[in-house]
Amino acid sequence: MSLTDIEIAQQVKMKPIGEIAEKAGIAEKDLELYGNYKAKINYNVMDKLKDKQNGKLILVTAISPTPAGEGKTTTVVGLGDALQRIGKNAFIALREPSLGPVFGVKGGAAGGGYAQVVPMEDINLHFTGDFHAIGAANNLLAAMIDNHIHQGNQLHIDTRKITWKRVVDMNDRQLRFIVNGLNGKINGVPREDGFDITVASEIMAVLCLSNSISEMKEKLKNIIIGYTTEDEPVTAGQLHAHGAMAALLKDALKPNLVQTLEHTPALIHGGPFANIAHGCNSIMATKLALKYADYVVTEAGFGADLGAEKFMDIKCRIADLQPDAVVVVATVRALKMHGGVAKTELNHENLAALETGLPNLLKHLENVQEVFGMPAVVAINKFPTDSDAELNLVKEKCEALGVKVVLSDVWANGGAGGEDLAREVVRLANTVNNFRFAYDLEDSITEKLEKIVKKVYGGIGIELSKSAQKEINRLETLGFGNLPICMAKTQYSLSDDPTKLGRPEGFNVTIKDIKVSAGAGFIVALTGTIMTMPGLPKKPAAENIDVDENGQIQGLF
Ligand code: ADP
Ligand code: MG
Repeated sequence: MSLTDIEIAQQVKMKPIGEIAEKAGIAEKDLELYGNYKAKINYNVMDKLKDKQNGKLILVTAISPTPAGEGKTTTVVGLGDALQRIGKNAFIALREPSLGPVFGVKGGAAGGGYAQVVPMEDINLHFTGDFHAIGAANNLLAAMIDNHIHQGNQLHIDTRKITWKRVVDMNDRQLRFIVNGLNGKINGVPREDGFDITVASEIMAVLCLSNSISEMKEKLKNIIIGYTTEDEPVTAGQLHAHGAMAALLKDALKPNLVQTLEHTPALIHGGPFANIAHGCNSIMATKLALKYADYVVTEAGFGADLGAEKFMDIKCRIADLQPDAVVVVATVRALKMHGGVAKTELNHENLAALETGLPNLLKHLENVQEVFGMPAVVAINKFPTDSDAELNLVKEKCEALGVKVVLSDVWANGGAGGEDLAREVVRLANTVNNFRFAYDLEDSITEKLEKIVKKVYGGIGIELSKSAQKEINRLETLGFGNLPICMAKTQYSLSDDPTKLGRPEGFNVTIKDIKVSAGAGFIVALTGTIMTMPGLPKKPAAENIDVDENGQIQGLF
């Protein structure tokens, strides 16, 4: 019987983190140890390294996700190890997992099989406490809002227009809508309220998009918590909350260093939601990794229409970075699902379904190449059921676009299963690219939305609800018109309809609502109801997790 992820991870002997750091060129005095296998890196090193040339940045993205699974994180880890194996100095940069999904359906998010980051139990659970710090900063602001109202409400905050919610890092649908401040005058002002999951907090996005602690403080100050009775925005700065919030976050802003199973250094830092936020690890971690490594492999959440688009248009723009090559992960199984095959039937060869599903991959490739001007390679994350005829069909269609298809077997074989992919990535990263954004910041909000929908999703246009149009006008008047857009759309389809698989055409995307994240610095466009507090499934993963008398964790995947 094959081993589970946690069994594989626990079999490998980790190296002390000081050794990993030393090999990566990180000085001992810049390291803050959290036990033997985790450390934070002091952000002051960025100053010292500012004249050092950056390494190459490799973005790993994927086709539109299906329940068959794609394996982006696994590919990131395996590719990092493979680059190391072919003699390159590589780092990986990933998001930190959230506790909610770990105990829910998804399980852990530290890679899989022989391509994992370790200690996976820590990374998946409390890690270095970053998310707890983010939750504390978020809830401090919430407490200060309600206290301000209780103490006389000098700012005239309208209790019905408070947009700031409390957070907890758990999938807990019970807390989505609550009424609080009950039981008389001394216990606060009663109002409707609710909780989001910590990773959906704007503070998470702020932390991930800050280039320095002072920039973080400025962004915290700009957070809009709600509106006055006259509809004027109220900020965290007006409540004098940003200093204390930044104090709570000072260590959380420092990137966390761990290692892969093959001892490649990995910075795991920040974990913003990929829908109402931009869905990739912190700017600090990416920038730091680029100073220490020749090749940095990183991941963007969901498919390339959402994750890669926001990686380019939000993160790269704010960080003044650009990728050097893009890996698009696909599985034959998922492509067959895009072609209409049920999950139970994926083990049989089905060329017709594959051919119907392939345009999903081809559209994402076109986006990488034509919209963003970047070279791409397709990594087929290998499953034993893939037939030669199926693999050849994928190759043929991608090669027609000038894109090489490489088999990646890192889940089963670690870095050794990714050497071909690593060589192609190195080749691509050293070619000239024409990196560009999908829209300009100077475009109007409507133009930006149209460009994303037409160019990236392949739709014909947008339909704005009355309230979205009204909010666009208001935000442009308030001076937020030049912010980038963060699309909140279903990840399952290139369109806004999760049932339209493959490469849908002729659709409009309906923008139901618009909201500004003035701290993080983007405008969120909501195309449907977006869940910011998930629930647990009928059989939560938590039921299988346990710990033995030695403190060894079991059943965490
Ligand atoms: P993503 O980052 O795209 O969400 P992950 O890399 O986290 O995907 O992988 C999702 C799950 O699929 C993990 O549990 C991983 O172990 C599993 N997985 C990935 N690749 C393979 C593979 N080739 N064979 C079997 N399981 C895999
Ligand atoms: Mg992932």
